Amino acid sequence: MTHDTTQHTGQGSGTLVGQGSCTLVGAGPGDPELLTIKALKAIQVATVLLVDDLVSEAIVALASPKARIIHVGKRGGCKSTPQAFIEKLIIMAVREGETVVRLKGGDPFVFGRGGEEVEHLQAAGIQVTVINGITAGLAAVTSLGVPLTHREHAHGVVFVTGHGKPGDHGTDWQALAATAHSARLTLVIYMGVSGARHIQNELLTGLPEQTPVAVIQNASLPTQRHAVCTLGELHATIEREQLMSPSVIVVGDVLTGLMQLQLPATLAA
Ligand code: SAH
Repeated sequence: MTHDTTQHTGQGSGTLVGQGSCTLVGAGPGDPELLTIKALKAIQVATVLLVDDLVSEAIVALASPKARIIHVGKRGGCKSTPQAFIEKLIIMAVREGETVVRLKGGDPFVFGRGGEEVEHLQAAGIQVTVINGITAGLAAVTSLGVPLTHREHAHGVVFVTGHGKPGDHGTDWQALAATAHSARLTLVIYMGVSGARHIQNELLTGLPEQTPVAVIQNASLPTQRHAVCTLGELHATIEREQLMSPSVIVVGDVLTGLMQLQLPATLAA
């Protein structure tokens, strides 16, 4: 028996007669060489690309010169395109027979509202194929030579958002800190820089002040910067180093070796 490994969502597979197609593509953290081969192929054959603001220009440049490229992000001084409008554009383009690629930073299904987008498109009768990308948290930690899990330091990893939906209660940081401590988990916090002071204070209720932390901005891009400190110094370090979005904050003992490298030899001993 053979299996179709393409990640179609919803019932069946393939494109309806008379329609184009829609593929949600993970563009990875920024470095074009971190794209999957499947993502690269989808980008190259697309006739219409809707591009989020965290997708690097080097990746957009891989599209066909004939493709229509629509930037729907909020950086560069523009307001972000409302989600409903993006979905409308996709639906219209697919109905016109276009090969539509929706390019999202990292992995389409790790934050970034990929799940909501697929639900809405399916409700409109559009079938969506999803192609994974390397999520920023993974690339960020790897770029420092640090693993997310380690038999000595971390039995698992939690990807968590530092920024909930408006009106949402958000993450229960105290519960998370207690669990991370007892279950020995690495925390990878997306969208956490602007709320770092609050996150630090809440996490300190369950994690030691000396817990190592790293903040990595623009992971995998030539502009990448990072800082390593303790949880007790997280907010002050972000301020001092002027680390900004997009950054991930990594918390946990997997960073112990890296932190020791940053200390003068006498203190690290
Ligand atoms: N789907 C994306 C996440 C989108 S949410 C993924 O899987 O990576 C946006 C957040 O992702 C940013 O606020 C930041 O926390 C993180 N992020 C995205 N690209 C990044 C990069 N190159 N370096 C560091 N963090 C990044």
